[in-house]
Amino acid sequence: MKALAKLERAPGLTMTRVKKPEVGHNDLLIKIRKTAICGTDIHIWNWDEWAQATIPVPMHVGHEYVGEVVDMGVEVRGFAVGDRVSGEGHITCGYCRNCRAGRRHLCRNTVGVGVNREGAFAEYLVIPAFNAFKIPDDIPDEIAAILDPFGNATHTALSFDLVGEDVLITGAGPIGIMAVAIARHVGARHVVITDVNDYRLELARKMGATRAVNVARDDLKAVMHELRMTEGFDVGLEMSGNPTAFRDLLENMNHGGKVALLGIPPKNTAIDWNQVIFKGLEIKGIYGREMFETWYKMAAMLQSGLDISPIITHRFSVDDYQTGFQAMLSGQSGKVILDWTG
Ligand code: NAD
Ligand code: ZN
Repeated sequence: MKALAKLERAPGLTMTRVKKPEVGHNDLLIKIRKTAICGTDIHIWNWDEWAQATIPVPMHVGHEYVGEVVDMGVEVRGFAVGDRVSGEGHITCGYCRNCRAGRRHLCRNTVGVGVNREGAFAEYLVIPAFNAFKIPDDIPDEIAAILDPFGNATHTALSFDLVGEDVLITGAGPIGIMAVAIARHVGARHVVITDVNDYRLELARKMGATRAVNVARDDLKAVMHELRMTEGFDVGLEMSGNPTAFRDLLENMNHGGKVALLGIPPKNTAIDWNQVIFKGLEIKGIYGREMFETWYKMAAMLQSGLDISPIITHRFSVDDYQTGFQAMLSGQSGKVILDWTG
């Protein structure tokens, strides 16, 4: 079958042919329809330090997808051939303490689809049926293909009560922008997002941000003043991985504020801990999506009118994957979809 793989320990990905995967007793075989390019795939494409230390070569990558079940193992229950599915990309062990308690997102033995094992940038993908999520009929394919990053946004944004709260989101990448839409949907008051990229800030405005602030140019404090926010933000969502953004966020939180950290900062990033201690901030690290509460919440929000479709800005046939990756690399994009059905 066709697959988009890292064949050499160097930048880029190559369209190649690999063996169709075998279906174990508890697995689903999924025929891929659409995939999306994740920031992680960009790290893999660029072959940065993290990718060099993490990605086995040769291997085909990708973990944002939607497809159709075409075969399944004899032990599988609850799925049928023809089901439209996406899947949780974190494959968990099932035997550690957190797994046994149903806190699968905290499994210490997590294996990543398209990171530690073969991925979804291929005609077919095999995953444990446990990881699959059946897509309700009213959710279109291309939205289903981005449930993974939408799930990061959902897990982070719904970590704290947002109803009537003022929310600061640092980082208007695809995940930060989707978090804007979620915060708006669930009833936040002001949703302020920061970035240094005007294209993305404009997209965030389109998706409901009260203010989208280019911190390279404009002052966040002045925006807060304009909004008559005299005390600071109630909830902060760090979605940039940028140390300056993280520090700004802490500085602009109200006392007793709640902060969720999704962005991955460089090792040994320093912050002013006095902001945390004297303000009594509550800080929570976020990894992946809750299995499977986040997935049900996503489906329910989409079915109750949340529209995240503007985040998809580019669509290509997978044969044009180079152009797709260039769009992501340019920073002038939201999500980029690659179609495998052509
Ligand atoms: P992205 O790289 O597309 O977005 C990050 C954004 O932050 C960019 O638009 C960038 O311009 C912006 N930024 C840079 N400097 C800034 C500053 N000083 N202030 C405000 N914004 C600034 O990433 P994404 O795909 O949207 O993901 C967001 C973050 O979450 C990344 O750090 C990613 O590695 C991380 N992530 C974590 C998990 C997890 O499970 N914890 C999962 C997926 C992604
Ligand atoms: Zn586990």
